[in-house]
Amino acid sequence: MYDIIVIGAGPAGMTAALYAKRAGKDVLLMEKEYPGGQIVNSPLVENYPALPNVSGADFAENLQKQISDLGVPVEYAEAESIEKNNGVFTVNGSEALTAKAVILATGVFHRGLGLPGEEDLVGLGVSFCAVCDGAFYRGRDAAVIGGGDTALQDAIYLSSICRTVYLVHRREAFRAAAALVEKAKSRGNIVFRTPFIPKEYLSDDNGVTGLVLENAKDGSLETLETEGVFLAVGLAPQNDFARSLLELSEQGYVIASEDVYTAVPGLFAAGDCRVKKVRQLTTAVGDGAIAATAACDYLDELE
Ligand code: NAP
Repeated sequence: MYDIIVIGAGPAGMTAALYAKRAGKDVLLMEKEYPGGQIVNSPLVENYPALPNVSGADFAENLQKQISDLGVPVEYAEAESIEKNNGVFTVNGSEALTAKAVILATGVFHRGLGLPGEEDLVGLGVSFCAVCDGAFYRGRDAAVIGGGDTALQDAIYLSSICRTVYLVHRREAFRAAAALVEKAKSRGNIVFRTPFIPKEYLSDDNGVTGLVLENAKDGSLETLETEGVFLAVGLAPQNDFARSLLELSEQGYVIASEDVYTAVPGLFAAGDCRVKKVRQLTTAVGDGAIAATAACDYLDELE
């Protein structure tokens, strides 16, 4: 039995594992895909204190190396359910793993637009990751959908690869940081298309050929010709496996306080997976440190 199982190897989970291991606990990190979480999709993180120009991939790689050097084991498996019996947590995945405390750091995944054919077009012109797929559109046109930090970051990143980047947003106002909007506006090849709502993918046997947009002001339709559509329309949690043990918010986020305690003693929630106002790299790693400290306190009290 482990002292602590951390579920999710994004910045919050890896930071929690780092702090727990350094506190002398027997900790296991569980990850269903690859370490790093959503930050690996971030071309350039410009607001992390003292690291003004780090790429998300480099940040994740450094953090992964840091915990690997400490000897934190990683179990590559998806948590399918979690239960607590007689003070012991069992996390069921490819095998049943037990621990005295658990830190949920399951992060979020990228939402799609939900338009017909979208799922089939992922990898054939529809992408959730500009850093991963941008090079396919070198010298060609691409569209980014959304008005948040991710969309603006993606558009700026793609503007140095693509001929023209169409930034399609359903409102005139952007929720992204003003500095990102200004930076995007300063790029000569980012064309702002607002307020436009994507209505339909156009495609042939090779994939996406365009996007039908509706002008939100007058309802008129027009076609944007592009073979690359980068979706940045928000994030959704992935906490259903914990639903039997925990109360989740209406949107599926873990209900936990700012000190990351859930209603279940010994179960903590860190980072984007919990109900919170500010979802940033800084707040994710902050949550990870707080969760590990809280879990260590809990274990010390048990003893
Ligand atoms: P977000 O802030 O939720 O923005 C999603 C955008 O997509 C919004 O502009 C939204 O429009 C639009 N949208 C949602 N559903 C849509 C639909 N069906 N059709 C068309 N447009 C749709 O998501 P995000 O940009 O991925 O950011 C998520 C969190 O990560 C935020 O807290 C953000 O600050 C943080 N983040 C931070 C950084 C950083 O460097 N600081 C980088 C990336 C992300 P409306 O505005 O009209 O709702």
